[in-house]
Amino acid sequence: RNPDDALWYNSITPEQVRDGTIGGSALTRGDGCWVWDASGSRFLDARAALWNTTLGYSARSVVGAMTTQLRALPVGQVIRYRQPPAISLEYARRLVSALPGGLSHVRFGSTGSQMTTAAVLLSRFLRKVRRENDRTAVIGFRKSYHGTGGMASALSGERQLHALQSPLPPGVHHVPAWDLDALGAAVDGLGPDKVSAIILEPVLGTGVVPAPSGALARVRQLCDRHGIHLIADEVTTGFGRTGALSRMAWEGVEPDMLVLGKGITAGYVPLAALVTTDEVFDTALSRPDFAFPHGSTADAHPVAMAAGVAVLDVLADGTLFATVRERGSRLQDRLAELPVHDVRGVGLMIGVELRDDAGEPLSASAMARVHQECAAEGLLITSTDNTVVLMPPLVISERECDELVRRLGTAVRRART
Ligand code: PMP
Repeated sequence: RNPDDALWYNSITPEQVRDGTIGGSALTRGDGCWVWDASGSRFLDARAALWNTTLGYSARSVVGAMTTQLRALPVGQVIRYRQPPAISLEYARRLVSALPGGLSHVRFGSTGSQMTTAAVLLSRFLRKVRRENDRTAVIGFRKSYHGTGGMASALSGERQLHALQSPLPPGVHHVPAWDLDALGAAVDGLGPDKVSAIILEPVLGTGVVPAPSGALARVRQLCDRHGIHLIADEVTTGFGRTGALSRMAWEGVEPDMLVLGKGITAGYVPLAALVTTDEVFDTALSRPDFAFPHGSTADAHPVAMAAGVAVLDVLADGTLFATVRERGSRLQDRLAELPVHDVRGVGLMIGVELRDDAGEPLSASAMARVHQECAAEGLLITSTDNTVVLMPPLVISERECDELVRRLGTAVRRART
């Protein structure tokens, strides 16, 4: 037995585990956009750990704020009884004031999965309050990811994510990615008065599929027409990844519920948030009989709250957002010069689709080879299906972007020979 098998991983193919492309070498240190393994090899982390290390590995202000909080009040809770750590109140106020006016109440959780689930439960709870008891259906898009476990798995649009989860919680339906005619037909088919919520990622994470121009506003109109809640899952797209704090806000479309995660603490410590409107708050959350038995022990951990405040401080003047927009579009242009099928994305959330010479999507084993060649080039990437998903730290420099393109180009060319 290999002692390292004490820890196990997800992989694209069994070969990857055998080849060591997924296990790879264990990392011991990080700085900026780079990580090192024990042998001293250096990798450019174009996946920002798991799309969350937005400020890179050495954001001193975040580490400082976390350390200060750890010394002052290292543990606290906000689920039961009103005696929250002061830092939770401070952060909640700061977060809602950074978001558009309507989104003014926040609940914190530990993971994105937990908060997409909470959003659906909250939507259904509101229906109960309004005595719309059979209004429970939720519709999402294929190519979406909303997390893992129970409801979050059910919400995710890719069928393979449903494996091992059977039976899934009922009442969740999917339509093809950004097919708004199919969405309208699904609402009509189920009956508009049976649909509680529509959930979407403004850029679908699986394969990186941005909403076509005007699509988000059209979904909002559909929701308004039928009194359906719009849940925006910005776990990936939020906190600067797409060049704004919230992609929905950038597009001028306000959801009824907004789910945030990943970059919310620059990835330094687990935190997710569900932000909602006065209307939701007044209808349900402020009721004396309101019970929302959906929270976990470590939610709103004070150290996460401190990290959240520090991240907002870094983002406050908008400079990083502007850099992400500019750098992202330049990076997309450069990537399009490589022998690849398609480059798409928003800001520094970029998908690079790979096909073979016959125009067929690269197979899973060929994609594993791309991963392997990237690792050999000192470049860490993620992928879904035949699309390389690039989400480097937002603090990536112009030179590091060039390095990313050069290394990916070498790896793709080698993998195709
Ligand atoms: N929603 C989206 C859009 C995500 O990308 C993810 C994580 N990849 C989640 C939800 C789930 O978040 P977590 O992994 O923190 O449970």
